Amino acid sequence: MMFKVPRGTKDLLPVETGSWQAVESLIRETCRLYRYEEIRTPVFEQTELFTRSVGDTTDIVQKEMYTFEDRGGRSLTLRPEGTAPVVRAFVENKLFGSPDQPVKLYYMGPMFRYERQQAGRYRQFVQFGVEAIGSDSPAIDAEVISLAMDVYQRAGLKDLRLVINSLGDKESRNAHREALIRHFEPSIGEFCSDCQNRLQKNPLRILDCKVDRDHPLMKTAPALTDYLNEESAAYFEEVKTSLDALGIEYVVDPNLVRGLDYYNHTAFEIMSTSDGFGAITTLCGGGRYNGLSEEIGGPEAPGIGFAMSIERFLMALEAEGKMPETESKLDAFIVALDEESRKEAVKILGNLRREGIAADMDYMGRKMKAQMKAADRQKAGHVIVIGEDELKNGAAGVKNMADGTQETVEFARLAEALKSRS
Ligand code: ATP
Ligand code: MG
Repeated sequence: MMFKVPRGTKDLLPVETGSWQAVESLIRETCRLYRYEEIRTPVFEQTELFTRSVGDTTDIVQKEMYTFEDRGGRSLTLRPEGTAPVVRAFVENKLFGSPDQPVKLYYMGPMFRYERQQAGRYRQFVQFGVEAIGSDSPAIDAEVISLAMDVYQRAGLKDLRLVINSLGDKESRNAHREALIRHFEPSIGEFCSDCQNRLQKNPLRILDCKVDRDHPLMKTAPALTDYLNEESAAYFEEVKTSLDALGIEYVVDPNLVRGLDYYNHTAFEIMSTSDGFGAITTLCGGGRYNGLSEEIGGPEAPGIGFAMSIERFLMALEAEGKMPETESKLDAFIVALDEESRKEAVKILGNLRREGIAADMDYMGRKMKAQMKAADRQKAGHVIVIGEDELKNGAAGVKNMADGTQETVEFARLAEALKSRS
């Protein structure tokens, strides 16, 4: 029996983890510049947290959740997204009581969705996301969008398209909802069964349907932007003004609705426009979620955030030829020529590492030539050779692999000598 990695998941081997780490540190550094601090929540939560917040007419809740009963009979779900858990933690830990408002958080970790596997779509994927909770200033919307764009741009991406829209407040959404029902109701029989269910429950979701996306009524559907009340329209204007102030380019797309129920006012997506990117072009999605905190039992705490997957981030870097270069290098490799030398090598290796020098040796009993090759493969800066003579003299031959120079250094002074050269 051969075991395989579960469908929709993948192993990240050392040839890939280097670029992952590079992207992760760039993300952490960008968050530091914006004063967003890391939060880590569990990978599973009470199922109801998601059905309530994400919404039970959404694809995520209807089709994509990994839900199971634990041995105590509780219904738990592997988190499909990060916002609801973070807001849950914000409420439960009373972060709303902190003097520093809004509370600015970021997370990075695996999410789980039962999806059909294709390029850029996995069942376990890693999302980086931020949440700014506690302020409804339009300037914070712009800050959050700016952070997302900054992460991509600092990584070297150029082919980006930022699309924004406003979903308005409750009043605007209700007006739009009525208009959508009037628009779709006469022909709802031509739509998929999901859409038929959505018509009364949540007609906005119809616009997000992947089955009926080419139906002619989709194009002529009433746009949300035409139903914004004065307050919502003014809010949207201010978000745009703040984006302008930050020098961020954007396109307004009145058809942009997001796949989760809790969004209102600002919604945005960042796409890759790179030729090499493939069919799915969305890199990042986010929006404002005033009311979510109350929905899950917390105080009023308006919030905004986004999420992006590292998988699609790396696909965009690949498409634009901007994959971070990551070569792990060794400072020194010890070549030991016989059993006695090996024992000395173990001792020296320990000393070098204690002094902060990255070093390795052969454990396969290889011949000298094969050991030299291993040193080469591992891009060792120096090779230290120990054999019978070296043992007798208590000094090893140290070869600088960059310029080929060689010198003899006492065992006790090896760390010092290597440090002075790097
Ligand atoms: P889509 O329309 O592509 O299904 P979504 O609306 O489900 O996207 P969000 O829930 O907004 O996506 O997630 C935000 C980001 O997370 C996406 O823009 C994408 O980068 C990433 N993402 C979502 N689902 C997956 C997945 N299954 N595999 C990899 N990345 C994903
Ligand atoms: Mg999806």
